[in-house]
Amino acid sequence: MLIDLPDRADVGCEPPWVTGGRPPSPGDPDYASYQDFLAYEARRDAFWTAHAAGPALPLDAPIDMTAARSDAELVWEVADADRLENAAYGAKCRAVSNVAMRKLRNPDADYDPEYLRRSVEAELGCLLKLSPAAVSNLCHVSMELTRRYSKTFAALERGEVNRVQVQAIVDEGADLDVAQAARLEERVLPEARERGGRSFRDRVRREVKAIDADAVRKREKRARADRCVYLRPEYDGMATLCLFMPEDEAQRIFKALKERVHHDRAIQKEQAAEAPLVIARQDERTIAAQELDTIQAILGEALGIDPTEPEIPASSALSAEAIELLDLHANTYAPTAKMKTAVRNRDKHCRFPGCRRPARQCDIDHSIPFTKVKGKVLRGGTRYWNLGCLCRFHHQVKQMPGWHLEQDRGRFIWTTPTGLRFITYPGADDPDAELPDFIKELTAPVPF
Ligand SMILES: [Zn+2]
Repeated sequence: MLIDLPDRADVGCEPPWVTGGRPPSPGDPDYASYQDFLAYEARRDAFWTAHAAGPALPLDAPIDMTAARSDAELVWEVADADRLENAAYGAKCRAVSNVAMRKLRNPDADYDPEYLRRSVEAELGCLLKLSPAAVSNLCHVSMELTRRYSKTFAALERGEVNRVQVQAIVDEGADLDVAQAARLEERVLPEARERGGRSFRDRVRREVKAIDADAVRKREKRARADRCVYLRPEYDGMATLCLFMPEDEAQRIFKALKERVHHDRAIQKEQAAEAPLVIARQDERTIAAQELDTIQAILGEALGIDPTEPEIPASSALSAEAIELLDLHANTYAPTAKMKTAVRNRDKHCRFPGCRRPARQCDIDHSIPFTKVKGKVLRGGTRYWNLGCLCRFHHQVKQMPGWHLEQDRGRFIWTTPTGLRFITYPGADDPDAELPDFIKELTAPVPF
């Protein structure tokens, strides 16, 4: 039976957003109205629960569930859901921290904590289908919340701060000691209600500077040491080539590039004006595209290459005879150059679930470790079907206790320390034919 839901106007109560989102306390003038609001909310919940569960709801016909609600109620629901999402993220961080802490404190493990951390991250990455960078960040944030930011953690679990704000506190406070970290959260948490995104992060950074100016200098020095060039494949046949570098220098290069293109365009215009009778081929490129072409030409010339020349695609198809020839050197530990190329062409990227580090940046790993006894190589050896591309990170993870890799002619079956099993396949020549990364082999995963 459905509960009749009165109109909010008839109930005569107001939601607490009129008081800036803070629920009034007993004694406040609008406390009674707030109690009415809570009672109304309870009835509303009961109404929708009954509606959703009741036989009166035909499952095949979408019903406008929003019709009985005002715009303000719908907006308020967004805020409710947001609080739940924050709290759920807090619960996830708590669980991640619990599992990571237990493994890191395992007194039996005779391993460098750094490697134990990687092993935990790799397993959680498989489970949550996250990239190595994303899962590493999740573990880092979870452990920082447990060890240094108890008030922030509590606020997150209550849903009062969001993950962007938590990330800002953890990132910016990275070089503070425990007491300083506690001071930081005490000062910035009250502002989490009024500031978000960049504004909140800037506020946290200013506070860190006030607490320990040296920490900010240390961060800047470390950031400078992390300068690098990296490539990120995009879609539609594009990629982003990034230079992570000190801002002043980046600004100068960017400015010089803009001036060069501006100058080139001015010359083009002048030439067109001087020779109006010659039908000049019009340059239809945008300024942005012209800037990119200019820097591409400069880099190509400096490196002695023509980046516009297409590369001959590497094919992974190998005949049985070709594999036999490669396997002639199975008794030597180091694979030949030809074998390395063949394995890299086959795998295309790291073979750990979810990792896309390109094969050329990977180690060539023996799936069954290379073992020679009295001059005789035991199972495996340096054979085509016993080698695979693993990035250094996942190569190290594979050596950690509890990890197991089996290879079945290019099909990799991974077992994690808790007994989850995942299968990965070599990268496909045609990206559209790429198989999923996290194929679970067991139907019921072993719980942590
Ligand atoms: Zn990897």
